[in-house]
Amino acid sequence: MLNLVLFGPPGAGKGTQSAHLVSHYQLIHLSTGDLLRSEIAAGTKLGLEAKHLMDQGLLVPDEVVIGMIRSKLETNPDAKGFIFDGFPRTIPQAEALDNLLSDVGTSIKAMLALEVNEEELIKRLLNRGKDSGRSDDQDVEIIRKRINEYNAKTAPVAAHYNAQEKFRSILGIGSIDDIFDALRKAID
Ligand code: AMP
Repeated sequence: MLNLVLFGPPGAGKGTQSAHLVSHYQLIHLSTGDLLRSEIAAGTKLGLEAKHLMDQGLLVPDEVVIGMIRSKLETNPDAKGFIFDGFPRTIPQAEALDNLLSDVGTSIKAMLALEVNEEELIKRLLNRGKDSGRSDDQDVEIIRKRINEYNAKTAPVAAHYNAQEKFRSILGIGSIDDIFDALRKAID
């Protein structure tokens, strides 16, 4: 199985590049942000609780996202591989993911980290907010909060995969095709 973690701060281009990777390698895309937004749209209890935190730019509890990923892994036993986008975002999430994959005899092949500076991230997210309608993309203070959460809780996850010699850094600025080529070279 080809299991990849696409890593990087909000606005780094993980969603855009995931779509390319999914069609090139026939992987299943698992974005915890998308899964949470589906719960919100469906008006579930989980969605309502998550929305409160997401609207403030804060992370939702580890158990919630780990549970969602566990159920997606269970319902797709024949997948060629998964691309994890926006997950894991904390060390406990990374440890849980390693265990879930090891239980089914597989593991993460690589963590690909898209590197983009903060000024560019804020510009991209504000732009995306105009089209996506996402409330967490429309307020610069919430965007800064999300970047702070990333720096405090998510950035350390890189060291977790670096210790397993799976971490690769990719420049996330340039054309979508050039960035995709760099990702493909790192994977192949
Ligand atoms: P994203 O679409 O990945 O930018 O995620 C949007 C929001 O969903 C984040 O700001 C968090 O509030 C929440 N979220 C998404 N994925 C996770 C995760 N793995 N752990 C905790 N919170 C998450």
